[in-house]
Amino acid sequence: MSLTFSAFSEHVAEVRARIAEACARAGRNSAEVQLLPVTKTQPAEVVHFVVQHGGFTAVGENRVQEAEEKRPLVGGALRWELIGHLQSNKARQAAALFERIQSVDRAKVLVALDRAAGEQGRRLAVLLQINAGQDPAKFGAEPEDAPALLEQALQLPHLVVEGLMTIAPLSDDPAVAQRTFARLRELRDALERRCGHSLPELSMGMSGDLDAAIAEGSTLVRVGSALFGARG
Ligand SMILES: *Cc1c(COP(=O)(O)O)cnc(C)c1O
Repeated sequence: MSLTFSAFSEHVAEVRARIAEACARAGRNSAEVQLLPVTKTQPAEVVHFVVQHGGFTAVGENRVQEAEEKRPLVGGALRWELIGHLQSNKARQAAALFERIQSVDRAKVLVALDRAAGEQGRRLAVLLQINAGQDPAKFGAEPEDAPALLEQALQLPHLVVEGLMTIAPLSDDPAVAQRTFARLRELRDALERRCGHSLPELSMGMSGDLDAAIAEGSTLVRVGSALFGARG
């Protein structure tokens, strides 16, 4: 591992400065935007850096198996959130391992998570992942399917739906990401009106596009490479 704690601390300061600047431009308070370090593919030592640095409450991982191996090495100082695609046959493991699952995009997964959380005697926080950029390469429910998915989720007693998540399509044109994020916010507003359920969390923005996401109302940016360096 080549990342040192001091390099990591510098990266945190740089990313926090970007967040502050984007918030200032948007007339927002930077306390409204959470920075979620994405530690996928990074060794447990790097998660220790996050704990040691302070100021972080959670990390994001994109694979159940990887988090299951790493989490016991890190201890209990952080919440773990799943941000990667989840299949229903891994729902039980995921419900036991993560405090929140950001990547729920199908009814089958909702039902499996609800059942698992019920068996574990708890309520599990989830976000609905929406393919707001209508990118064939991305997971996520199609925006037109979101109302039915949310209505179904709200029937399930062991899930708490806290908001929406999206990943913008890869593009050289920054307007593509901005449009995607605007669409997620508009969808959130429409769903809140329709279902009468508040969806405060908008998880959108990564290393390359967090500025555009904050301009469009992101409450949580998921950042990997800008904090930890390029993934091998
Ligand atoms: C890897 C990943 C991120 C972080 O991406 P970076 O570009 O490294 O910041 C954010 N969200 C999801 C869903 C990811 O899989």
